[in-house]
Amino acid sequence: MSRVYNFSAGPAVLPEEVLSEAAAEMMDYNGTGMSVMEMSHRSQAFQEIIDTAEADLRELMNIPDNYKVLFLQGGASQQFAMIPMNLMKHGEADYIVTGQWAKKAWQEAQKYGKANKIATSEDKTFSYIPDCSDLPISENADYVYICENNTIYGTKYKELPNTKGKILVSDVSSCFLSEPVDVSKYGIIYGGVQKNIGPAGVVIVIIREDLISDDVLEGTPTMLKYKTHADAGSLYNTPPAYGIYICGKVFKWLKKQGGLEAMKERNEKKAKLLYDYLDESRLFKGTVEKKDRSLMNVPFVTGDKELDAKFVKEAKEAGLENLKGHRTVGGMRASIYNAMPYEGVESLVTFMKKFEEANL
Ligand code: PLP
Repeated sequence: MSRVYNFSAGPAVLPEEVLSEAAAEMMDYNGTGMSVMEMSHRSQAFQEIIDTAEADLRELMNIPDNYKVLFLQGGASQQFAMIPMNLMKHGEADYIVTGQWAKKAWQEAQKYGKANKIATSEDKTFSYIPDCSDLPISENADYVYICENNTIYGTKYKELPNTKGKILVSDVSSCFLSEPVDVSKYGIIYGGVQKNIGPAGVVIVIIREDLISDDVLEGTPTMLKYKTHADAGSLYNTPPAYGIYICGKVFKWLKKQGGLEAMKERNEKKAKLLYDYLDESRLFKGTVEKKDRSLMNVPFVTGDKELDAKFVKEAKEAGLENLKGHRTVGGMRASIYNAMPYEGVESLVTFMKKFEEANL
């Protein structure tokens, strides 16, 4: 077996322990004589899987009792519609547009009501997080929406915006469980799991109970109502059962690592190694304002497209995969999620140093 260091932005690297445990259980999960893939979602064995997953996630994130945890489908993108359909009671919401995903959410919300773009960093290719200490929050806004970690551009909010009492809704797809968060500051925290938690196909929504009701926009499909899923314990219809099972294993792995404080420390150490090198390199440079740098996604460029392409090709040959930057930014991007070991980042930096020497 040969594993590469996989720097993909998502779907992304998962802990090897989780993968091998799942492989060992593939033919016979816990004495059931079948794989979780083959199991009824109404079985006791699966009920235990989803209950344990929820309990472990609650413990990891210290989720207060007045929040529901929902395991849904449709990816993070489906939430771009579900959020306004369920929350826009006054037909208005405020969006902070810090990248493509926030922009898509803002554009989708315009289908359902008045979606105001109250701040953006598009003027500088989303390379920073705008000042959010005194935003022009709309009086009638039902919520303020952010994308907390911008996967494509590599920026992250270091402080949450001052929403002036309005409900905060946050897409944490690419920073989920990478560090502790205070759940009580949010109305909704949600994310696709395919970056930091599990396989594509599951989206986790953590939602304050008072935001769940039948009072949704007219015509909202049953499947797109939070209440449908909250009332049914995420088992209204067949859930993405295998994906939830893997998420559960990742939660156990995170607990074993020491929880989110420990992950934060680890992630800071990994990111520092790469950022420190970028700051001293004469060939490569980071593309993001230092104060807003993400711990998870690190874009960088040489400034020469051909050299960038050569780097990506040679890195791949050296077992460092998926370093090509997003098509809208160019250059390179190293995604260094929870499951990327320190040694992976070390290998990358060593390779970059060699490449710099050979190509300057
Ligand atoms: N939000 C963020 C921050 C993302 O990085 C992505 C995907 O990369 C999405 C939303 C869209 O996720 P999905 O493909 O699950 O709809």
